[in-house]
Amino acid sequence: MKVFKIEKAEWENGINRLADSYALFGPVREQDFHLFKPLKNGRLPDIPPQNTRMSVKDVLYPQTQPMFDYSLDENDADHHQLKDVPWDETPKAVIGMRPCDADAVALVGRNFVAKDIQDPYWVRTLEATTLVGYACDNPCPVCFCTSAGSGPYNEAALDVLLADSDGAILAKAVTEKGERLIAAAGWDTGADDSLAETIAAQKETAEAKVTAQVSTDKLAGHDTMALYNASFWEDVSFSCINCGTCTFLCPTCWCFDIQDETHGTKGQRMRNWDSCMFPIFTIHGTGHNPRGLKVQRVRQRFMHKLKYYVDKYESGIQCVGCGRCVTYCPVNIDIRRVAGLMNELDLDAEACAI
Ligand code: SF4
Ligand code: SF4
Repeated sequence: MKVFKIEKAEWENGINRLADSYALFGPVREQDFHLFKPLKNGRLPDIPPQNTRMSVKDVLYPQTQPMFDYSLDENDADHHQLKDVPWDETPKAVIGMRPCDADAVALVGRNFVAKDIQDPYWVRTLEATTLVGYACDNPCPVCFCTSAGSGPYNEAALDVLLADSDGAILAKAVTEKGERLIAAAGWDTGADDSLAETIAAQKETAEAKVTAQVSTDKLAGHDTMALYNASFWEDVSFSCINCGTCTFLCPTCWCFDIQDETHGTKGQRMRNWDSCMFPIFTIHGTGHNPRGLKVQRVRQRFMHKLKYYVDKYESGIQCVGCGRCVTYCPVNIDIRRVAGLMNELDLDAEACAI
């Protein structure tokens, strides 16, 4: 695929051209952090030096999403029938997501786009959206993307990869969808074969800056129940306050709850993000809660990310190493430490601990 050079002066013009044919989303600063928002009225993406606090997950998989409308008014011919909510077909483009967040899109897709069943909301959104990543030349100290199967220049799930280079921006078309976006922006005039080598060299430099790591090589080989019954879970979970921050900020957490909201005789069935860290997440209709204890919930989060997902999909851990949960956990629970404990599980020591 071709690589184009965009002079800085052409960046803003291109974004404005794109606004004619795409609904644009990008990182913007709000108070003291960045998050992804619609870019309206000529607003440009404000690419932060490091990761946004919230990932792009909310754009592709909204925190609260209407699924169906219905009427409870028996005078309506279609009362008590679920009707699809109107779907916005406008092509969308997300400009400036980090490659680790794009990797998370590929990762979540394994759950939402299975062979036998597909999530229509996810599929329709992804089909309509062009993902434009921005390579990461200054990974933050807690990023461990390279050992989590990702990287600061990864192209997985991206349609275009952008990278700063000598005062200009390089744009690599990764897919045909990406080529179409580059053409729509008018950035398709400076193709140069040597720029692919520039990107490759910058990639190597950026990867070398990612010094934090996570150990995962032995996870698949461990017995699931041995990990489940390991003696370290009480210690790992002791300080957790079950706030759910780690799961809401995580680009790879996908759990949701479905609830009906009614106003008079009008109703909507909504799906809302949920979190395995919340005490009522697994409560049954009988009132029984199989994860009523904090230790059970913390164990579930790490077992899902680092063992169940690994075994089910055989494509690595359910984590791209973005570092958000490490940075924002109010009690400093660190997935890198927990992965290390799980990876180095010592069955002899566990037997002595019983
Ligand atoms: S952010 Fe930390 S304290 Fe909050 S639920 Fe996650 S692990 Fe527990
Ligand atoms: S588990 Fe933590 S480091 Fe991994 S993708 Fe989620 S928020 Fe990022």
